[in-house]
Amino acid sequence: MEPGVLCGGCFCGAVRYAVQAVFDAGYCHCSICRRISGAGAVCWFSVREEHFRVTRGHPQALHSSEHFTRYFCGACGTHLYGTDDLPPPPKVGSRLVSAMLGTLDEPELVPPRIHQWWSSRMRWYGDAAGLPTFDTGRISHPDERPVRS
Ligand SMILES: [Zn+2]
Ligand SMILES: [Zn+2]
Repeated sequence: MEPGVLCGGCFCGAVRYAVQAVFDAGYCHCSICRRISGAGAVCWFSVREEHFRVTRGHPQALHSSEHFTRYFCGACGTHLYGTDDLPPPPKVGSRLVSAMLGTLDEPELVPPRIHQWWSSRMRWYGDAAGLPTFDTGRISHPDERPVRS
């Protein structure tokens, strides 16, 4: 693998991609990301179009809004990335590809830097840091958890 190249892909492995030179990264709280991912908020990262390439498989396209197209694995359904259909923003010079950060093989290498669509966030979003934690998927019954003060 070339230096500085990050790889990622869908859950089943049918679609793989490679990127270099991460442009930006953040959380998105918009209602479309929420519905399409099924999560309360998503983490994404972006790269210039010329720094993104699909290295395996043929992602399926979905026009999720007037000027944005999202791509999925047709076999397992993972939402992998999306692109703006509009011309590239002048300050950036290239069209950007925004990919779901959790589809990277090493997502910890790309920390989010901003919150996007903050006005649309779930009102409970900021409470997450104070919740009881369990190191695995084995969780106690809700009635048996410590009461938060
Ligand atoms: Zn897949
Ligand atoms: Zn969004």
